[in-house]
Amino acid sequence: MIFAWLQRIFGGTPSVASAKPRTTPPPPAPPTAHPAPPAQSPIRHPSSAATPPHYQQTNKRTPNLSPGRTIKPTHIILHHTDGAYAGSVAWCLDPVSRVSYHCIVSQLGKRTVLALPTQRTWHAGKSSWQGRPDANSWSIGIAFEGNTYISPPSPAAILSAVEYLLPIIEDHKIPLANLLRHADVAPGRKDDCSPAAHLALVTALKRIV
Ligand SMILES: [Zn+2]
Repeated sequence: MIFAWLQRIFGGTPSVASAKPRTTPPPPAPPTAHPAPPAQSPIRHPSSAATPPHYQQTNKRTPNLSPGRTIKPTHIILHHTDGAYAGSVAWCLDPVSRVSYHCIVSQLGKRTVLALPTQRTWHAGKSSWQGRPDANSWSIGIAFEGNTYISPPSPAAILSAVEYLLPIIEDHKIPLANLLRHADVAPGRKDDCSPAAHLALVTALKRIV
């Protein structure tokens, strides 16, 4: 009895607990041919209901749209607000202004959505593109806060705009070539947004779309 006990402590006859067959460690995994997945982007795919948006979105309803009119957006028009974010949102919610974008994006990446993509907001004014008049009837208007020539959109603003636009681009099958500047559809009358801001947004979208 004592011998068996000593054997358990100092070795010898294997105890019941160690009587299991020895397992050899698994061989190291062979090197994979696939590259490591890229680091996760702060953008979560907006079409997935399970992943909330990364940037704060506030939903409002502007009165500055054509009641009862539904559009099928084929283009996205980029603007800048000139003014600061809060005041620009308030201006678009004021029926006196008779202007509104679909979405305004702040330099911090916050955004306010003012209308559904299929509503005809009043963002482009007198305008045309490739012989097609009235951009309000076929486009989404999105505005960056401030003056994009003086203060280019921050990385957060670009990513927030991407997050807002992705599901719209997918739902309405809008090619990236159809992202225009307000200046494109109202030349001589409008100069927003800056070509650099347009390029930054298109470049960011091209990484995902
Ligand atoms: Zn504009």
